[in-house]
Amino acid sequence: MTSSSYKTMGQQFGRRSWAEPWKIKMVEPLRMVSHEDRLLAAEEAGYNTFLLRSHDVYIDLLTDSGTSAMSDRQWAGIMLGDESYAGSRNFYHLEDAVRDYYGYQYVVPTHQGRGAEHLISQVVIKQGQYVPANMYFTTTRLHQELAGGIFVDVIISEAHDPSNLHPFKGNVDLNKLEDLIKREGVENIAFISLAGTVNMAGGQPVSMENVRALRELCDRYCIPIYLDATRMVENAFFIQQREDGYKDKSVAEILREFCSYTDGAWMSAKKDNLVNIGGWLAVNNHDLFDKLRNMVVVYEGLHTYGGMAGRDMEALAIGIAEGVQDDHVRSRVGQVLYLGRLLIDWDIPIVQPVGGHAIFLDAKAFYTHLSQDQFPAQTLAAQLYQESGVRGMERGIVSAGRDPKTGKHRYPALELTRLAIPRRVYTQAHMDVVAEAVKKVFDIRQQTRGLKMVYEPEYLRFFQARFEPIP
Ligand SMILES: *Cc1c(COP(=O)(O)O)cnc(C)c1O
Repeated sequence: MTSSSYKTMGQQFGRRSWAEPWKIKMVEPLRMVSHEDRLLAAEEAGYNTFLLRSHDVYIDLLTDSGTSAMSDRQWAGIMLGDESYAGSRNFYHLEDAVRDYYGYQYVVPTHQGRGAEHLISQVVIKQGQYVPANMYFTTTRLHQELAGGIFVDVIISEAHDPSNLHPFKGNVDLNKLEDLIKREGVENIAFISLAGTVNMAGGQPVSMENVRALRELCDRYCIPIYLDATRMVENAFFIQQREDGYKDKSVAEILREFCSYTDGAWMSAKKDNLVNIGGWLAVNNHDLFDKLRNMVVVYEGLHTYGGMAGRDMEALAIGIAEGVQDDHVRSRVGQVLYLGRLLIDWDIPIVQPVGGHAIFLDAKAFYTHLSQDQFPAQTLAAQLYQESGVRGMERGIVSAGRDPKTGKHRYPALELTRLAIPRRVYTQAHMDVVAEAVKKVFDIRQQTRGLKMVYEPEYLRFFQARFEPIP
């Protein structure tokens, strides 16, 4: 979103309408860390922000996963946990909430999103089948590959361009998809892996028009669509704001309609659903549900808790209902846009339009003198921490990993440093501090040197890899 369209949004609603629809009842002190201590901590962490201790972090924008503040109602729900091994009443509350707000029939609880990804991948992918997706997500693609699937990116090409202002950069390119189906044969397509919003593209939404057309195409070939619903509430908000015919519909109504075009979904409840841990998987097909419900006992726990405590499921059921309220979503995304506007006004290169959950700094545009194998986005995350104590993370070549066939780095078009905003946690003044910190790093960009990787784990290397500065 350009700063002028951001301003339009501000005028349209007035700041009062996206001010937080809550007040603060309990606070958690933050520690200001000295510059000296930050340099030491960065070195100890191998210049990987995932290896920092949170004690050494001032404002933590590593992730919006599991970092939300729960409401007083959710905390009250924690006290109502029914810790029976089987048939906990909290499970039925969760099942009702998923049915009511997402509209799927059958619900399988899991400990978090990747537990759900594991189950569905193992059950629906046959060895050597293709899994077309609107860009990849790290854990999603890995589970699909471990199940024998071959990931194919079918997102529209605008998504790979950080400055392209397309309002729905998460859309599936239906021509790319149909070409793949015709080339490989429909029997070699496991399912469509659709994400809304698309995390790795910068939190970009999928339009209702696109999912409707995708449904028609998939019906013609009898291919199921499974949705990564992790940030689907934020996606629904963007549809309300940007797509013709939706401005008078509630986020909850839009969410239900979108999900109705898909056959099932997996969820990292640690995002939109406002809990610190949890996940679920939901489908409409009873035979598939039977298989998933059988698998969950092996890997997660009984089908009425799936790795969560009863109290977790209660907080989750309440979080689902709170998370789809229009005033909540508007203030959540409004805060992200606020930070984005500050950076855009300073001509700092970020992915536009600004997405729903995070600001993505364009590290390639920061460090035009670094090649991609000097890890520009990793460098930027490390710099930002060292200069300010603000923690972000790499979303570029390190996250993209190696090609399973050739063993070579994958070179993604997007080399980004993500500043993810936890829900209901930081204030506008914190956002001002973050913007100033980014500005400081931007101003010294030309003197900044890259990194080399000195330790590389086999799976999801971005979590545990270690680096050293290039002398
Ligand atoms: C976080 C995330 C996941 C994985 O969920 P976990 O709860 O972290 O296991 C899957 N997809 C997307 C888009 C995510 O952001």
